[in-house]
Amino acid sequence: MKVLVINCGSSSLKYQLIDSRSEEVLAAGLCERIGIDGRMTHTPSSGNTVVKNDPLPDHGAAIQAVLSALTDKAHGVISSLGEIGAVGHRLVHGGEKFAASVIINDEVIAEVEACNDLAPLHNPANLIGVRACRQIMPDVPMVGVFDTAFHQTMPPKAYLYGIPHQYYQEHKVRRYGFHGTSHNYVAKRVHHLAELDPDNSRVIVCHLGNGASVTAVKNGKSVDTSMGLTPLEGLIMGTRSGDLDPGVIEYIAKKEHLTLEEVLKVLNKESGVLGLSGVSSDFRDLTEAMEQGNEQAAVAVEAFCYRVAKHIGAYTAALNGVDAIVFTAGIGENAAHIRSMICDYLGFLGITIDEEKNAVRGKEAEISTPDSKVSVFVIPTNEELAIARETAALLGE
Ligand code: ADP
Repeated sequence: MKVLVINCGSSSLKYQLIDSRSEEVLAAGLCERIGIDGRMTHTPSSGNTVVKNDPLPDHGAAIQAVLSALTDKAHGVISSLGEIGAVGHRLVHGGEKFAASVIINDEVIAEVEACNDLAPLHNPANLIGVRACRQIMPDVPMVGVFDTAFHQTMPPKAYLYGIPHQYYQEHKVRRYGFHGTSHNYVAKRVHHLAELDPDNSRVIVCHLGNGASVTAVKNGKSVDTSMGLTPLEGLIMGTRSGDLDPGVIEYIAKKEHLTLEEVLKVLNKESGVLGLSGVSSDFRDLTEAMEQGNEQAAVAVEAFCYRVAKHIGAYTAALNGVDAIVFTAGIGENAAHIRSMICDYLGFLGITIDEEKNAVRGKEAEISTPDSKVSVFVIPTNEELAIARETAALLGE
């Protein structure tokens, strides 16, 4: 079955057409600046990237542009839309309603909409993509794959905040966690690569991208993760602060004469390694700045690595030991020196890294030495493939 995977944001839409049997990516692309002017890049598997600057006034127009590109005579990859067997949508927040992927119907849309308050930036944008696809392809089955679903196995002791219980009961204020599709995919891969028994395994997955989170996976299930009600909790990230004393919010608001919304914008968009370094949110820029002697960049990177290592330590306690640790996403897959700096804290676990093996970028590899007490891996994540697999599986393919 050919599955169109859609990841729809407020002004952008990423897509891949994947053959779920061969798992080949037939085409991939990105529509940007939707509602502003419009820009599209489309890359067929056996051809060069095509760039189009046609107007994209809304998400419906973006979906139409994707479908035209996929069926285009010159750079298309299918002869007609009838070849698309299903659409898999990335949906960010499923609240407590969705512990697994789901076939999308009117009721599901209403239930996802009910979670909009929990992810006001993401869920409405995701749903715009769902509605646009349903309008244009009413007969094609659609599946929703949630970022939060994998973490629904967390026990109450991990997901509850230490606040009055009524806030959980009345408003569902709790920790949800994100990047679930990635953590699940990578944990399954490490079971296979490290020859672990999935039903008797303790894995810690470090998804380190611009957004970053660590998950403790016991017997294939998430038992704790570093993001919370929103993706702001946990690690220091590209532009997000991660954990801080909530008292900081009021203090900054008063000192800087900012509203609550303005402080949260600072914590989401202007903090993390960007805010700490004053240089960039991108670890390539930070590394370059460090090499040129920029101390703020160096301290930002150190703080990032320290936080990751602290989470690994905490999750080793949560799991009562650990069999494998995995690095994934942009930083985890590419930045050997960051992996090395994090693993430097983990000597107490008997972990040793082989720096030659650690020189790997963007492919699966074990980077620990044969006598390391815990295996350490680099595993590139593939959320699109995971969504295509879920979609095909739910539709009985
Ligand atoms: P997201 O999906 O959260 O936007 P990614 O997983 O694509 O993020 O990761 C993007 C980040 O990965 C970049 O901001 C950059 O910090 C980091 N990154 C990508 N490539 C490299 C590299 N070669 N060396 C160091 N860091 C890298």
